[in-house]
Amino acid sequence: MITHVTDNAKILKEGYSRSVTDLRSFSTHINHLPSLIIELTDRCNNNCQHCYINRPAGDLQAAAREMKTDFIKELIRQAADLGCLDLRFTGGEPLLRDDFFELYRFARMSGFKVHIFTNARLISSELVNLLKKMPPGQPVGITVYGMNPDSYEKVSGVKGSFEEFRKGVRMLQENRIDFGLKLVVLPDNRADIPAYEFWIRDLFQGRKKPAYILGLLQRARHDDAQKDRRIRRLRGKAEEMVDLVARSDAYQDELRDFCRRYTGLKSDKIFECGFGQSLCVDAYGFAQGCLLLRHPDLLYGLHTGTLAEALHEFFPKFSDRRAEHPLFLSRCVNCCLRGLCEQCPAQSWMEHGTLDTPVEFQCRIAHAHARKLGLLKAGENGWEINDWQLRLKQAKNNTSSVDK
Ligand code: SF4
Ligand code: SF4
Repeated sequence: MITHVTDNAKILKEGYSRSVTDLRSFSTHINHLPSLIIELTDRCNNNCQHCYINRPAGDLQAAAREMKTDFIKELIRQAADLGCLDLRFTGGEPLLRDDFFELYRFARMSGFKVHIFTNARLISSELVNLLKKMPPGQPVGITVYGMNPDSYEKVSGVKGSFEEFRKGVRMLQENRIDFGLKLVVLPDNRADIPAYEFWIRDLFQGRKKPAYILGLLQRARHDDAQKDRRIRRLRGKAEEMVDLVARSDAYQDELRDFCRRYTGLKSDKIFECGFGQSLCVDAYGFAQGCLLLRHPDLLYGLHTGTLAEALHEFFPKFSDRRAEHPLFLSRCVNCCLRGLCEQCPAQSWMEHGTLDTPVEFQCRIAHAHARKLGLLKAGENGWEINDWQLRLKQAKNNTSSVDK
């Protein structure tokens, strides 16, 4: 049971946001929690063909197991005590929860910026009024599944969902509430890409670029083998995905950033990432070190423990975990593309149910990027390259000339 009550929680009870001094002292504290993601529910009013998480909106068993309002508020208090300022409400569809408004108000009163991730179908005038009165401090994140009823609803699986989505976006726009859009690229909506890009230009007048979700993930809970097979079939070709992002100006920025961070890392540590440094909580009250990594050994139950214990005691135990899978040891450890590649324990978990089996489709995407950047020639593999430093320098020089 959670009984952790502090002075900060008292301030929240009295209805005040945290003072600037409080926040400064927390944000410079080395052990503070940078961000917290709360999955309010796995349930969703869509049934997207590619979704890694969703259960039906009316799944009463799932609803009964979800965290209760007071429990979530207590987690928000604990996060505030850890100096956290950054909260994400996601799902499933977080707006399905009857207590969403109450939780949102509580989080804002507690001094958090709140990111809301939604499909926009349940955006109502009541929600818009609340967001106007208490702005979230972050753009509302909306996923796009198509640009017309036919393509959108082939993906979402729900008749009438396109109109609701467009209405939700319109309401935010008309009320000047900041939002961002991302298109999940799938075979059923690929032909919509030009219309999507035109829409983004028109909506944001150049202030925001078209954004995409490309690498489709299998079911996070390994609960639907048939759907996993379908998700694998929906994945695009690596070269096509890279060509799509390479058309945008942002790609050159990513190249520069990649070149700055690219270290040719050689290590058999599997968590070469921020695992466990920020926290996520699933709909049932388990802390995760990463939103996608639901391996049972890496879940920390918050019904019997606290966020502070998860952050300071539980997750640090895994930071030194070493790879054992032979392919990881022979390829990934020696691979010059590791900084560019999305291979990680969460990807291995979702694809193979292990923590270190290399994920083939991520490997193909990393190689396609490297070929596009001129770091690899056709047929070359990242783990066979010995002159990567020279190639990297040449890529950097090419980037500088692009800059001019
Ligand atoms: S809207 Fe999002 S959470 Fe809902 S089914 Fe689609 S992808 Fe899944
Ligand atoms: S590109 Fe392939 S070999 Fe290289 S790190 Fe990624 S998965 Fe491993």
